[in-house]
Amino acid sequence: MKRIGFIAMSGVRAHNAELTRLGLTLPGFVERNKIIASLPSLGLLTLAGLTPDQFEVSYHEIADLKTLPELPVAFDLVALSTFTAQFYEACEVADYYRARGIPVVMGGITVSSLREQAKAHCTSVVIGEGELLWPELLADFARGALKPFYQTTKEFDLAQAPMPRFDLLDPAKYNRLTVQTSRGCPHRCEFCASSILLTPRYKVKPVAKVIAEIRAIKRIWDRPFIEFADDNSFVRREHYKKLLRELAREKVRWFTEADVRVAEDDDLLGLIRDSGCQQILIGLESPRRTSLYGVELKNNWKLRQQDYYREAIAKIQSYGITVNGCFILGLDGDTRDVFDDVLAFVRDAALYEVQVTFMTAFPGTPLYARLKAEGRLLRDRAWELCTLFDINFQPKNMSVAQLQSGFLGLVKQLYSAGETRTRRANFKRMLRTSPNFGRSARREKTLLAA
Ligand code: SF4
Repeated sequence: MKRIGFIAMSGVRAHNAELTRLGLTLPGFVERNKIIASLPSLGLLTLAGLTPDQFEVSYHEIADLKTLPELPVAFDLVALSTFTAQFYEACEVADYYRARGIPVVMGGITVSSLREQAKAHCTSVVIGEGELLWPELLADFARGALKPFYQTTKEFDLAQAPMPRFDLLDPAKYNRLTVQTSRGCPHRCEFCASSILLTPRYKVKPVAKVIAEIRAIKRIWDRPFIEFADDNSFVRREHYKKLLRELAREKVRWFTEADVRVAEDDDLLGLIRDSGCQQILIGLESPRRTSLYGVELKNNWKLRQQDYYREAIAKIQSYGITVNGCFILGLDGDTRDVFDDVLAFVRDAALYEVQVTFMTAFPGTPLYARLKAEGRLLRDRAWELCTLFDINFQPKNMSVAQLQSGFLGLVKQLYSAGETRTRRANFKRMLRTSPNFGRSARREKTLLAA
């Protein structure tokens, strides 16, 4: 039986020594990144789910390349996926296997954008949505005729989504597992490196399939914490209302990413609350209109939401759902007072959680193309710096050093014990009188945990 090793690059990468040090001492600062880095690769588990029984499959993660000499080698084929920051490490892993005569397939969002660079290290590159190409690739592999590139112009229908092979995981290694309920996003942010690079339209997975995946996870993990691996949940509200009603019966806790417009619909918020949602992450990007200008390329959507930010945060949190507001520093409209503006907004809007990162030019994004054309990339193809905590561009209205030191100062304030305590206390105080929060044993637990 042919053996396929599904290998995911994992672990946090950041080269900025000062920020790395701060991340170790300021709880919350790199939390979200740590969580992302410790999620299993849903893409690989999905391809494993599409693999017929005639193959033996296993799933592995490489957190640190220092383990390279000890990588497992008992495979006839390796399927490798990576985040952008580990792209070069993934290429080394591919070299390692190919040097041992094992063919390597690379795919995913980053690799789809860096297809020629990846091809120099692997046997085959999968470009775009892998589900459409994997059966053909496996058939080619079985007859010893892998092609250099696999690409399709077709769109994958999530109604055809296979069950990911969650059973390949050791749940003890994870603090949350992912389920994809939708793919794509109707917006077009200049810096976005999400699946909108793979799929031009928003599409949802049928409710029954999502619930079946959650039940599959519950078979390996009694009380799972689920992260929706969506770019932007709730865009199709009526679909999500059906899903949330079903989800409430599953008694799971979950997290997702959405845009501020989720706050417009009280029915939806009530269903989100009652189905176990713990937190919604929202890319607010900046509290300043000048900084938001041009961030969303289609029609300045994010700029047009700015007036609504505070109200939306207050509404969502009044349902007992915490908001993790994300801000990008170094946007073209940012001047040196942006750091104070972010701090003031976080306090004023009473955000429960906050995340700040540097503007990052991921491969394949319009931002990367623009900064390159403007000669503002400090180093081209420095993918290892796509960590969100390293600067690889010339900011427009300040120096790199000013961006770096302003960011450091902001981080120290935002994640200080006092600020964190105040954010928690504000949320708790608000909930005690919120009519939208209601009262139940489960919600009381939320209150106690806050
Ligand atoms: S809203 Fe989020 S997912 Fe949508 S385009 Fe912008 S960054 Fe990407």
